[in-house]
Amino acid sequence: MNFPAEIFRDFTVLSIPMKARFRGIDHREVAIFQGDVGWSEFSPFVEYGEDEASTWLNASLEAAYKPWPALFRESIPVNATLPTVAVERVPEILKSFPGCTTVKIKVDDFESGSELVEATLDFLPDAKIRLDVNGGWTLEEALLHLYDYNLRFGNIFEYIEQPCASLEDLKKLKREVPFKIAVDEGIRKNLDAQMELLDQYADVAILKWAPVGGIDAAHHLASRIGLPVVISSALETGIGISQSLALAASFPTLDYACGLGTVSLLESDICEPAFTPLDGKIQVRRAQPVPALLSKYRAAPERVEWWHQRITQIWNSESFREGSEWR
Ligand SMILES: [Mg+2]
Repeated sequence: MNFPAEIFRDFTVLSIPMKARFRGIDHREVAIFQGDVGWSEFSPFVEYGEDEASTWLNASLEAAYKPWPALFRESIPVNATLPTVAVERVPEILKSFPGCTTVKIKVDDFESGSELVEATLDFLPDAKIRLDVNGGWTLEEALLHLYDYNLRFGNIFEYIEQPCASLEDLKKLKREVPFKIAVDEGIRKNLDAQMELLDQYADVAILKWAPVGGIDAAHHLASRIGLPVVISSALETGIGISQSLALAASFPTLDYACGLGTVSLLESDICEPAFTPLDGKIQVRRAQPVPALLSKYRAAPERVEWWHQRITQIWNSESFREGSEWR
């Protein structure tokens, strides 16, 4: 069938510049639409294939058509996120996360990463610091780099996020280093894995609203994993972030600041007030885009066509037909 426009009402594709290059992109391209309960966002990164993107589609349909569950808090403490930038830019970036005392730093190696840690501590001497490696190190590299971090800074780190890609490497690493380990890609790239064993590999589970398939799916996953959770973004606009905030608010206990301040990495949100932190927190509320901002960031017609085709392809796929309650 053709693009199901009656399901994706007011479908709009946007392209928003990033303040600094982040995970290889300098524009964030997203689709937004309305369903019966409000606005929703569908924004798998453009290189993601059909299977991975179909999980995101389930999340976005749930958000558009299903009311939020009971919420346990009205605002969510969030961390600042520092991309791998030149050290001179660290104060400017951290200032765009007002009141945030936890900083997640994207690191590639010890040398460049330790400069970012130092620049962060110069700006915020009491900051709680997380390092995010995005699975970039082998076990040997992780042992070497984390030994150096420990030598230089001591154990000031709240946790180290996904230092190695493989779960087996994380398991070995966890026994060797004095830091807590958080698992992120290890969950959402392995949704079929034995989640009950994850406490052998990590101390904290990073869950992302769309990549795990929405609010219900995230709770199901969290109960199988049994570790403290940190709800983190996938670089959505305020519309996707509002869903992630509701997800974070729907957990009775929340031990850590969440990674939901990332609208600050975009040139602008499409909602007003923007879903950016104030006093280190963001209020939980439904999102409504501002028409002038939609006009400003509207993507080219050929990109709209590409997103129509992408959704149509997922919609008609065997796996979505069998696996989705929204089809
Ligand atoms: Mg991560």
